[in-house]
Order: sequence, then structure tokens, then C-alpha cells
Amino acid sequence: MECHDSKWAGHPGMHGTLALVTDQYYWPHMDRDIEAYVKTCLVCQQDKVETKKPMGFLQPLPIPERPWDNISLDFIIGLPNTDNCSSIMVFVERFSKYATFIPTSKACPVEEDARLFL
Ligand SMILES: [Zn+2]
Repeated sequence: MECHDSKWAGHPGMHGTLALVTDQYYWPHMDRDIEAYVKTCLVCQQDKVETKKPMGFLQPLPIPERPWDNISLDFIIGLPNTDNCSSIMVFVERFSKYATFIPTSKACPVEEDARLFL
């Protein structure tokens, strides 16, 4: 398509291509056709511009200075159901790396989480 692929057009994107085409042509549902054409343009798919800000460096977690200063909590879910428990709550005390595994149900409310933790 001359209004998208040519050197003077320069792959302007859906709205730019639609503007260039509507200057000279009209047909029913032309916006749908142009959108499909631009979405399948190989050059546009291979030359995407990153629009997000750069991520930056990862920030490490602070190193705990004493036992029970910092605890991580995670769940292992999707296990076979045994005694009405299909998940495991995992606490890791980060200073000593001591891990505690507590069986729990899949739909564990936060009050139950707190009770199990205590
Ligand atoms: Zn293109």
C-alpha cells in the first residue's frame, strides 16, 4: 500500500496511514481494512519501538541484622487434596533461613493465615 509501505510514507502506523488514505480515497469499512493491513505489516512488527521507561537495576532486599527481623511468606498451591488441605504456607526466617511449612486449605482467609503464623 502506497500510503504505508512507500519511502515517503515511512510506515506511519494505523492513524497516520488512515489519514493519508482518506485524503485521496474512500470505501466502506476502510478503517477496519487499514487496521488489518497495518497490524500485519512485517516491517512494523519487526521494528517496534519500546515505549516504556527503562526498568533500572534490581534492588536487593535488606540483609536482616538479627533473628526474626525479616520473614518471607509464600504459598505452594495446587497440591492434591489431603485432609481438606491442598496448599502449604511457607514461612522463611531470613536471618537463619529457617523454614516452616504449614498445611492449609486453598481458600485460606487472611485471618486464618494470621492465626497459623502466630
Ligand atoms: Zn508497516
